[in-house]
Amino acid sequence: MRSSRHSEPITASSLLLAVLFSPIFALYGLVLLVRGLVRLPARVRATRAALSGGTIACANDHPNPTVGRFECATCHGTYHGWVGECAICGSGAGWVSCEVCQVSIKLPWVRR
Ligand SMILES: [Zn+2]
Ligand SMILES: [Zn+2]
Repeated sequence: MRSSRHSEPITASSLLLAVLFSPIFALYGLVLLVRGLVRLPARVRATRAALSGGTIACANDHPNPTVGRFECATCHGTYHGWVGECAICGSGAGWVSCEVCQVSIKLPWVRR
């Protein structure tokens, strides 16, 4: 005689666990996603504004172009182009001095 074992209780409990925990995990994942999405646009917007606006303001509100003639702090070469990257050696600039008052402007896409 064969005694068939019921696998039903195991299936039911695992199903119950899945039902109980999946919304929690889904919610947790959603919270992480939303948190990431909330923080990201602010950073992207600041960088975009600095890039597309074409100017970056110093502490005294003097607009300075983000594209133009700059001197590289690493190779000391003078390059023409985007302020954030030397066209000669490729090193990224962390700051630029204001054309008007010579105050150092921290570039917004640099994170220290
Ligand atoms: Zn350079
Ligand atoms: Zn200035």
